[in-house]
Formats: sequence, structure tokens, C-alpha cells
Amino acid sequence: MSEAEVQELRARFRGELIAPADAAYDAARKVYNAMIDRRPALILKCADVADVMAGVNLARERNLLLAVRGGGHNGPGLGVCDDGLVIDLARLKGIRVDPKNKTVRVEGGCLWNEVDHATHAFGLAVPSGFLSTTGVGGLTLGGGIGYLSRKHGLTIDNLLAVDLVLADGRLVTASAEENPDLFWAVRGGGGNFGVVTSFLFRAHPVQTVYGGPIFWPMDKGAEVLRSWRDFILAAPEDINGWFGFATVPPVPMFPAEHHMKKVCVITWCYTGDLAKAEQAFEPIRKFSPPLMDFAGPIPFPALQSLFDGLYPPGLQWYWKADFFHELSEKAVDLHVKYGERLPSPHSTMHIYPINGAAQRVGKGDTAFNFRDARFAEVIVGVDPDPANNPRLMQWAKDYWLALHPFSAGGGYVNMMMDEGAENVKAAYRDNYARLAQVKRTYDPGNLFRVNQNIRPA
Ligand SMILES: Cc1cc2nc3c(=O)[nH]c(=O)nc-3n(C[C@H](O)[C@H](O)[C@H](O)COP(=O)(O)OP(=O)(O)OC[C@H]3O[C@@H](n4cnc5c(N)ncnc54)[C@H](O)[C@@H]3O)c2cc1C
Repeated sequence: MSEAEVQELRARFRGELIAPADAAYDAARKVYNAMIDRRPALILKCADVADVMAGVNLARERNLLLAVRGGGHNGPGLGVCDDGLVIDLARLKGIRVDPKNKTVRVEGGCLWNEVDHATHAFGLAVPSGFLSTTGVGGLTLGGGIGYLSRKHGLTIDNLLAVDLVLADGRLVTASAEENPDLFWAVRGGGGNFGVVTSFLFRAHPVQTVYGGPIFWPMDKGAEVLRSWRDFILAAPEDINGWFGFATVPPVPMFPAEHHMKKVCVITWCYTGDLAKAEQAFEPIRKFSPPLMDFAGPIPFPALQSLFDGLYPPGLQWYWKADFFHELSEKAVDLHVKYGERLPSPHSTMHIYPINGAAQRVGKGDTAFNFRDARFAEVIVGVDPDPANNPRLMQWAKDYWLALHPFSAGGGYVNMMMDEGAENVKAAYRDNYARLAQVKRTYDPGNLFRVNQNIRPA
């Protein structure tokens, strides 16, 4: 675009328009994962839906590559692109809680900590993830696995409606009643179908929970992983806990003798009767004697943000993911083998339980297909220093390859890198063909392709 055209756009745009020559450009193009370094031609910080419509129309009319940014947390950096246009939703921050109907209306640029803050005042929570700084947009559109999944389902299972700007520039609503094909597709199909400017969620009575991390020594890894697997598959849905390998950070909350030790950790969230929490945790504390035990009553937003400080923006992240039906003895042994070799203090592997409420939705009912899987695995090599990337990436790839033969055959789209069309198809299995049909109806020219892309049929 010529300078005159940019000026003309600046005049009719209500938000902020940031070009490479602007002082704000470098900060505006940065995303959470510092491994991503892209230089868009223009960043549109939209102030309202009209700005989003203008951005979509501009990209389509000028045939510009278009990226849509929610919270900017995506691993492969799919909220930003080289040379094209970025529609940045960060200024769309409205949140309206309806305590009577237990619903929450959330604008497309919100982060989960903003939603948690708004709902907590009413004793409510929307099922989201395990960290509070992620964007509502990307996390929801890919599925949303979190502390409340066993009890209340994935984030998409609590989505009632979205408003979105389609590739042709129109704003439509998608819900069970309106454009149901589109509503089916956005529940797991990512940003493939339009720019969501507003989400309507169902919220649940969740306020103070009993939760937090319990650590065990690494040499008890296999024992604890087996105990956790057997426990979580049969546990009441009030209890959730994800298993991980980690390195104890050298910070005062941990006794100095444990600093930098490799450990296994399960971070819990119990939403049942607080008076019965200690009793519910009795079997957990018998997995093996814990090294450190931080589980106790905690406000839900505090649990959600427990790890935010450990993972500030600006680290290098390399992601690999798979779903699993079961964790066989052989798989447990392999996990421990690679867990013992965490390549850096920030690197980790998590296994999230997705049994319970998330499995009561049929695999064809939403675009998120792996409803028969009971575990979601994510392996992340993480470090501040880019010089360590080859080592982190090699560890993550080797780990993933070793476990992949035991997997259900595909991974969670929100925890993959940019891994190509075959892995996207594997993530959707037999829902892919229907997604491609919906894509052809709503985005035949594949304007929304900076994502885990579904090609129009
Ligand atoms: C530290 C960390 C912890 C995480 N924990 C969890 C977790 O517990 N559970 C979980 O399920 N996931 C988790 N994730 C993964 C997370 O769901 C994805 O990274 C997700 O893509 C982040 O969404 P975002 O809006 O921040 O990302 P962005 O990078 O802004 O966007 C990601 C993708 O979504 C699209 N998109 C975003 N917003 C919109 C919108 N409003 N309309 C249309 N398209 C949009 C973008 O175009 C892009 O393709 C975590 C990620 C990180 C980095």
C-alpha cells in the first residue's frame, strides 16, 4: 500500500494503525513465543467491530495475507504474519457477566485472567485452561482444556454463541439456532471461519477451590504417574489434576535444598464441598510420600494464575502434542525416561485428563474430534536463550516420537507447532471433511489461513 493509502485508512479507522516506521511497531508485532519473529506490513489495533470489518474487507480486496491476533499466545505464532495485515483484537475488552442466567459475554480480545476477575466477583467461572494469560480467542476456538474440563467440559462445551466477521465482511451470529453449521465448526475449528468479536459463555458456580501443586521426587516418577492414571480415571468429576515433569525454580517459596531438582508434579483443582477436601485428597497423598505439598483452599483465579510468573512472555517455546486413550506401562516408562532428561529448567511435559464431562459430548457434535481420548499430552521445550533451541527441539521431537506409537493418532491443535496439512487432518480425523465443507461455504478463498488451516473443500 502506498503511504497515501495508509493515511486514508488511518483517517477512517477508529483504532490504532501501526506501520513498520512507527515507534510502536516492534512491541506490537511481538508475540508470546520469542521464537517467532515476523514483520507484518500493517497492524490494525481494532477499537470496535466496524474496525474489524474494515480490516477484513481491506485484506480481501487487496489480496493481503491476513493474521488475526487474540491473546498472541499461540505456539507457532499464528496471531502474526510476515508482510501481510494483522487484525489485533487486544482493545476489544468488554466483559458482561449475567449472574442471574449464569452467562458471560466476552469480547474477542480478552485474556482469561480478565474473564476470571469479572466472573469471580459473582462466584462464577467459565471453564478455560491452566494458565491465566492466554487469550480467550485462540484457546476457545481450538477447544479449551483446563481445570474444569472433567466437571464441566471443554471451553467449547460451554460456548453458547459467537458473533463473527466473515470473509465477505458481514457480521453474523453463530449458535445452536443461528448458522448451526458455523457454530459446529468454530467449536474446535480454530480461526478458520472468521474473526470472533464476541463470545457468549455459560458460567458455573466456582469460587474457592481446594488445589495447587503437589511435588514428588523424580525417582518416584513411574510410581506416581501410574497412581495418578488409575486415580484420575475413576475419580469423582469434582477432582481434576494434571501430571507434569518440572524443575523446581530457585525461588523462596521452595526450600533451598530442592532448588533446580527435577521432579514430578500434579497440580490439583477440587471443586466439591471444601469440608470434604482433605478426605478427597487422602488417596492422592498416599501415591508416594510427597516432596512438597502446596494443595489447600485457594480462590479459583489464584489457582489459574499460579504459573503465570514462571512463564513470562519472551521465552523460546517449541511444542509437540498428542491425545491418548490410555497410558500403558511401556508409555509410563518412556515418559520417565524423557522426563529425567528435561533439557532446561523451563521445559516440561504435561498430561491433562479429558475424561468425564468432556467425553459426554459426541465426537461429531463439535469440530473437536478426540472425545474418546482420555488424556492430552503436551511436550514443551522452553528456555530464555535462543542458542539452546536446537537442543530443546531435539528433546521435544525425540520424546514425542517415542510416545507417538502409543497415541490416539493426533494432537490438540492449540498445542502444536506449524506442522503441515497432514497433522491438521490428524487432529480432526473424520470431522475434517465436514470442516472443509463449512470452510467452502464461509471462506471459499481461504482468507483466514494463518491458523491450523482447513482447506476449503
Ligand atoms: C503458556 C501457555 C499455556 C497454555 N495453556 C493452555 C491450557 O491450559 N489449555 C488450553 O486449551 N490451551 C492452552 N494453551 C494453548 C492456547 O490455547 C493456544 O496457544 C491459543 O492459540 C492461544 O490463544 P490466543 O488467542 O492467546 O492466541 P493467538 O496467537 O492470538 O491466536 C491463536 C490462533 O487463534 C486465532 N484467533 C485468536 N483469537 C481469535 C478470534 N477472536 N477470532 C478468530 N480467530 C482468533 C488466531 O488467528 C490464531 O490462528 C497455552 C498456551 C500457552 C502459551
